[in-house]
Formats: sequence, C-alpha cells, structure tokens
Amino acid sequence: MLTIIQIPVLIDNYIYLIHEPVSGETAVVDPALAQPVLDILDKKGWRLACILNTHHHWDHVGGNPELKQKTGCRIIAPQSDRDRIPGIDTGVGEGDVIMLGACPARVIATPGHTSGHIVYHFAEDNALFCGDTLFAMGCGRLFEGTAEQMWTSLQKLKALPASTRIYCTHEYTQTNGRFALSVEPDNPQLQQRMEIVNQLRSKHLPTVPSTIEQELATNPFFRENSLELQAAINMRNRTPIEVFAQIRRLKDKF
Ligand code: ZN
Ligand code: FE
Repeated sequence: MLTIIQIPVLIDNYIYLIHEPVSGETAVVDPALAQPVLDILDKKGWRLACILNTHHHWDHVGGNPELKQKTGCRIIAPQSDRDRIPGIDTGVGEGDVIMLGACPARVIATPGHTSGHIVYHFAEDNALFCGDTLFAMGCGRLFEGTAEQMWTSLQKLKALPASTRIYCTHEYTQTNGRFALSVEPDNPQLQQRMEIVNQLRSKHLPTVPSTIEQELATNPFFRENSLELQAAINMRNRTPIEVFAQIRRLKDKF
C-alpha cells in the first residue's frame, strides 16, 4: 500500500508525495516548488528517489532543479517534452511502466492540455496522478491540443476502474461544479456533490482526490452523452466530440 501525502502550494496547486513502504522509495508528482517537498521529506526521514512530471508547465516542474540538486533524485517526464522539462533523465510515453519500489505505474498519454501531457496510473493502489488533464468536475484547458485529442485522452481515463482515485494538480472543484450545474442543473448527484464541496471549501479543506465513479456521475466533460446536458447547450444530435468541444468552449467563457 502506498502512502500518499497531498501538499497544497501556491494558490490552488497540489503536489503529491508517494511513499512505497517496502522499499522505502519516495516519488513526488509535479513539484511546483522544492521547499515544501524538502520539508516533508526531512520530517518523515524519507529519501526522494524520483520526480514524476505530467507536463512542462512551470507550476508542475518549478521545483525540479532544486530537488534534483539537493536530493540527487531522478526525473521522469514525457519523452516528447524532453526539451521543455528542466533536468529530465528518463523520457516516458504511452504504455511505459515505471517502478516505485515494488509498485508499478503505467504511463498513459493524454494530449490536449499540452501536446506531451502524460498521467501515471498505479493500478494496484487504485491511484491516478493526472496533472492538468482531468480535474474534479472539470478538465484542463486546450493550450496545445484539439478538442478531439482531449476527448480521446479522457476516454482512456473514463475506462479505468470506477474506484480509481483521481489525484489532480489543482483545487478547481468549486468553480468547476458551478459550471457543471449551469449545464446540468437537474442532475441530483451533481447537486449533492456540490453541497459537500461547498461545505469542504468553506472550511478550506481539499475536495481532491475524487474517484472515476464520481466523475462519471457529475463531470460534464465525462457526460457529453447526457441528453439533459445536450439539450441545455443546444447540441442535440451532434457527435460526442462536437458536444465535448462546445462544453469546453462554454467553460472557457464561464
Ligand atoms: Zn498545466
Ligand atoms: Fe497546472
């Protein structure tokens, strides 16, 4: 069983420490900053084996150089982003498997937010580290990809076991949920989820991780097949990708 520690940093970023107790190996996912990671490693007495980056944006790789210099860790990141990832050692892509001690993680390519975006799936622990591809009730903006690419990427995540926990990199849930309600106001599971989210956020508590099951029921970017949603945005009898693209455009303006 992995130990996962969530570190809130900057305005709404999460860094994740993943510790594999049998080998004692520790990884960090998307370190925006180095110091908060170093502080916890120090407190726990853990040694950092590797950094796992999902994509090249500064709020996901900002801590790479200092962490590598101070801990000697190895940096694993998207091969296709080699030139944009500071300190990269090992480039990985679709289907590659990396080991954290005895625990395997499979790499899934999810282009859309950026062209090289990847996510890390620890199937034995039901944990997905998905960077800025999938958020609680949302998905990443299309900076370097098309709606079709992002839709295809999300289909891969949709197909993971329903109990998979979603460790995304931003606390965007409340704003995402407000948008979700605007396009699917009569979805009872969405209404219930928003009540819980509002309660948690009023106490400044995290709403992440969620699960694939929760996202299937409430995330508009997983729900392009919902007839209520299609009707609400005037997109009946369109292809799933057309509906998805329109949801993304509406969210960009929300
Ligand atoms: Zn990003
Ligand atoms: Fe980000």
